[in-house]
Amino acid sequence: MSQLENLYREVIMEHYKNPRNKGLVNDPSYTTIHIKNPSCGDDITVQSKLVGNYIDDCRQDGHGCSICCSSASVLTETMIGKTKEQAQLIATNYLKMVKNQPFDETIDLEEASVYTGIRQFPARVKCASIAWMAFLDTLKKEE
Ligand code: ZN
Repeated sequence: MSQLENLYREVIMEHYKNPRNKGLVNDPSYTTIHIKNPSCGDDITVQSKLVGNYIDDCRQDGHGCSICCSSASVLTETMIGKTKEQAQLIATNYLKMVKNQPFDETIDLEEASVYTGIRQFPARVKCASIAWMAFLDTLKKEE
């Protein structure tokens, strides 16, 4: 395993063990989407709160494999403070990256770039994607 792969693995395990923004809030100003991945038991709920055009808060809860839970944690940290347009751009590019589709490499995916290796494991792509798909759906639902 290369040093870079080791670093990626460390970031993923760190988020899995210490998930950020975990726990849902019961607040009508949040939009909530629940999503499941039956192939490996991942079950994640994502909440986002828009204030003006900014992602004021993003939360997640659920259970599943390390890839799924860590990517939900990374998602929340990446999105808080972004504009809605930035957030959509980052999430769609992230999803293209993990699905091994052409994506805009000039867009800074921040910590989420550690999931670049997922494209070599087609069975895990869904794990890395569902929280991010749920997040995009929360933004759509706001419209
Ligand atoms: Zn999974």
